[in-house]
Amino acid sequence: MRILSAALLYLSILFTAPTGTIIANAESPNPSSSSIPGFRDSAAESAVESRFLAVPDPKLAEEHLRTLTKVPHMAGTVEDKATADYVAQKFREAGLETEIVEYKVWINYPEEISVDLTAPAGATMHGPTREHVDNDPYQDDPRVVMPFSGMSPSGDVEADVIYANYGTPDDFDKLAKLNVDVRGKIVLVRYGQNFRGVKVFVAQERGAAGVIIYSDPADDGWRRGDKYPDGPWRPDTGVQRGSVGYMFEFAGDPTTPGIASVPSLPDSKRISPEQSAQVPKIPVTPLSYHDAWPILEHLGGPDSPREWQGSLPFTYHVGPGPSRVKMHLKQDYQFRTLWDVIGRVRGAELPDEWVVAGNHRDAWVYGAVDPNSGTAAMLEAVHGIAELLKSGWKPKRTLVFGSWDGEEEGLMGSTEWVEQHENELKNSPAYFNVDVAVSGPKFGVSAVPSLKQFVRDVTKVVPSPKGGTVYEEWSKASQPSPPGTTEASEGRRAPAAQVKNDVPVGDLGSGSDYTAFLQHLGVPSADMSSSGPYGVYHSVFDNFAWFKKFGDPDFVYEQQMARILGLEAIRMADADVLPYDYEEYGKEVVAYLETAKKRARDKFGDQAPDFTAVMNAAQSFERAGAKLLEKQKEMPHDSGRLNQVLLSTERALLVEQGLPHRPWYRHVIYAPGEYTGYAAVVIPGVNEALDKADAERAKQQLQVLATALERAAKVLEGY
Ligand SMILES: [Zn+2]
Repeated sequence: MRILSAALLYLSILFTAPTGTIIANAESPNPSSSSIPGFRDSAAESAVESRFLAVPDPKLAEEHLRTLTKVPHMAGTVEDKATADYVAQKFREAGLETEIVEYKVWINYPEEISVDLTAPAGATMHGPTREHVDNDPYQDDPRVVMPFSGMSPSGDVEADVIYANYGTPDDFDKLAKLNVDVRGKIVLVRYGQNFRGVKVFVAQERGAAGVIIYSDPADDGWRRGDKYPDGPWRPDTGVQRGSVGYMFEFAGDPTTPGIASVPSLPDSKRISPEQSAQVPKIPVTPLSYHDAWPILEHLGGPDSPREWQGSLPFTYHVGPGPSRVKMHLKQDYQFRTLWDVIGRVRGAELPDEWVVAGNHRDAWVYGAVDPNSGTAAMLEAVHGIAELLKSGWKPKRTLVFGSWDGEEEGLMGSTEWVEQHENELKNSPAYFNVDVAVSGPKFGVSAVPSLKQFVRDVTKVVPSPKGGTVYEEWSKASQPSPPGTTEASEGRRAPAAQVKNDVPVGDLGSGSDYTAFLQHLGVPSADMSSSGPYGVYHSVFDNFAWFKKFGDPDFVYEQQMARILGLEAIRMADADVLPYDYEEYGKEVVAYLETAKKRARDKFGDQAPDFTAVMNAAQSFERAGAKLLEKQKEMPHDSGRLNQVLLSTERALLVEQGLPHRPWYRHVIYAPGEYTGYAAVVIPGVNEALDKADAERAKQQLQVLATALERAAKVLEGY
């Protein structure tokens, strides 16, 4: 996904250019010219890195992508298993210890899906219409799954329709102000701005009987540019599939929160899907704008607020009715098998410290961009590691590559594996994710603040297809646009607190496979992509033909991403002193607190909770981080003890009881938002209490946060 992953394209957040000057560091791409943070012998590390960087091959990446996306390969199908076998074979050829690991998870395939317009008289629509355009070589395969919503219950609903824009809490509040009552109605919302599961969660809270989610041409269709096959944007019949599961409650199999869903797990250890907080209670299904058109066109009632108007050629009204729709959804829910492919290279010195790199492999249909552009990049990274292994190199720490399954259904393959290996991952220095690795040329990263500088440093030695280094291109693209230009970013990166005069790195919310690593176990994580105009997300048209024409015709961005992913893993695995920056982390937390403090004052005035203690804790965390950074630069001989301190710091930010109402999420700084979905909610305990205007809870959560920050500062001071 990047479920969002993906697809966080749909965040539609304009990339807010940071204020302040970006230093375009004109560093040479020659890695031997500078010292590498964390290494005693930078020249030796540079030699290894140069050998690695020479290997990833655009032609081979193209072959991987062509093979992986030959047929549809949804999680749990025989075609999905075939892609697992392909990846396992490549891992083995590269010399990785390889296994295919199975999990048993509760997911749905669609059996019967129909949406009919039953009123007003004379208006007709029978959907969903099959996705089709002129001349797409992939669209007619009988294995293409009909558009549906993962995790939607079955159901038959007939009701008047109400249009609710993007389905945010604000949108529903506006409807209430217009005296439009959504109870018992079918709510029609458009994709964009938030995770689709959030739209459903809010609609369910407000009493809707069903939800239809459609793609408006304003958001990823012809309003943005030419539609496929003439351009990269969504054609009329293109539909965005996707899970509407409440992953912000917990990720992974809906019947096994917190435990691994191994095939041998007895049913008595599972909760029933009906009781699972992850499963929506109302039926949901997606439509194209071709099919949503007549429903919207026949809505009466008040004009919608002007900013709710999309790009269909009539005025959007909110209803209710006279458009009346009958939804008939019959889902085939079963326990189905997932296949993760795990490849390992045992560490020569610190085998119990696993540096993990991963990407999901399952796709709603062909998944050329999402996710197999990432798989092709990962396989070429592994190809580079293979050449290093042949030359006798061994990583200091263990390298693990994960090809996750069932990500689209709810981050399942990665989450179940993480839950199974909770103990082993207590010493994991990092998880590096790619999902939608390549949809165009614009590079972006999200990461925990301790890894932001590390990722910037890695990109300083990787060449850009445009010349110079990735870092240089990235810096240029991050410059504020000149006044008068209104270029919306295609990226899905939320703007982060800008505490460093350098290229901005975003915060991790949810939407891809780093979620369990970071937010459940506290493994420092990063996620990256190279993005461009991409309107075919989760449709049949996200296929090899699209990719070859619009995504990366020469596969040079694939090569770039393979190099960065591989280098992240190699450098982290071999570092003498772990290259984290806890000063930048502390500064970001202070910035988050300053923002929250202002919000609290706006909400509660004189009654606002006191931020003094938590601010002091954040500042001592920052100071301790700055001090330790100096020690890290000295490269002490007893780096084992220093590394142990560094490894323990992110984990000190976990709380055993988890966040209020959602114990699976244990990180006090980052979580997906219950009302934002993909986008990160920073210091979630505090900010969500402020969202709810709950001063008492805000006070408690400030205390929890202060204690965690003090604990983390103590860890840093312990060296
Ligand atoms: Zn994905």
